[in-house]
Amino acid sequence: MKRRDLLVGFMSGVGFTAGNAYLWQMAQNGAKSRDLWSESGYYMMDDDPFAIGEREKQEVAALLRPEPGSETSALRAKVADATELPSLDELAEELAGQPPVVPAPQLAQNVPASEPAAKPGEVLPEEPVGGDQRQLLLEKVRNFNGDFIDDIFLPEAERPTLHSLHLRFQRAERLVGHGNYNLLAFDELFKYGKRYPQIGEFTLAELDMIEKLFFTEAEKYGFYGEKVTKELTAKIPEQEAVKVPYSGHFLLRGDSSAYYDKLRKDIGDTVILTSGIRGNVKQMHLFVAKCLEAHYNLSKASRSLAPPGHSYHGVGDFDVGRVGWGYSNFTDKFAETDEFKRMQDLGYVQIRYTKDNHYGVRFEPWHIKVV
Ligand SMILES: [Zn+2]
Repeated sequence: MKRRDLLVGFMSGVGFTAGNAYLWQMAQNGAKSRDLWSESGYYMMDDDPFAIGEREKQEVAALLRPEPGSETSALRAKVADATELPSLDELAEELAGQPPVVPAPQLAQNVPASEPAAKPGEVLPEEPVGGDQRQLLLEKVRNFNGDFIDDIFLPEAERPTLHSLHLRFQRAERLVGHGNYNLLAFDELFKYGKRYPQIGEFTLAELDMIEKLFFTEAEKYGFYGEKVTKELTAKIPEQEAVKVPYSGHFLLRGDSSAYYDKLRKDIGDTVILTSGIRGNVKQMHLFVAKCLEAHYNLSKASRSLAPPGHSYHGVGDFDVGRVGWGYSNFTDKFAETDEFKRMQDLGYVQIRYTKDNHYGVRFEPWHIKVV
């Protein structure tokens, strides 16, 4: 199936499979999870560090403008303004009163993987680039937040779409709840978008952007990690995910959750999960947020966050932090904590992105390599 056909599939199918009760439950869980200290630190849900300019705001509003006569125009107009997102309570109230009657698009099938799935642990060639280029790669890893002459930027014409996509992801996260959002798959997201005006239907430009971000060769940005999730619509089965209390995150049942339990047993409960298993939607949301933070510099974004499909959070890795440390858990400062030092002393703990790694990614002392 061609990718263009897939998009048509998104837009034209019928059938609504998720029950209203389930959605209600998700909204309830979301309301609870917001009260916990749980944010991964990549960005905070209630802040808007990506304040958009007036011109972009107008462009976004134009992109989101509903068809004349649309029943949902009032709500859509309301949610088009990022500063006027409905509260979770309002969402829950609306959800409770809405029967699931609007036909939702259905995905005909997943994007076929062009190659067999990567074997976990088979990551990348020893030296993806040689000589001077290798030196430049290390330079970028060390100065991940700098701008480099060969960095790739999102074309100007596509930037408003990046903003509108980000807003739509935020609305979806609010609707399903911060914790549940980690497991959300793209076909579910598109259904919810069509069904719930609080999210709104994805525009063709946004769907194109999603495809572009997922299918672009990450090496073009300067990221040399393996693509571990090759299907855009990959779904983490809920029965394979374990909810980790007081974290707002899930871990894969089996190796990942056993690993985490052992860590806590060996180090103590000052170690906490800060991000666990993440599906493609969550990863893309984080990547889009990173791109905005990096002023559309896709290369800079990929030096701090694996591009969609390339994150080992999709297959079992997780992040840990020190309780109460908030955002500092996602900085080099974490390497100075007792928790990190004790992890190193344990012998069995490996981190995914070491200093001077060849992936093209910054040092991440908090990211535990499981697979
Ligand atoms: Zn991580």
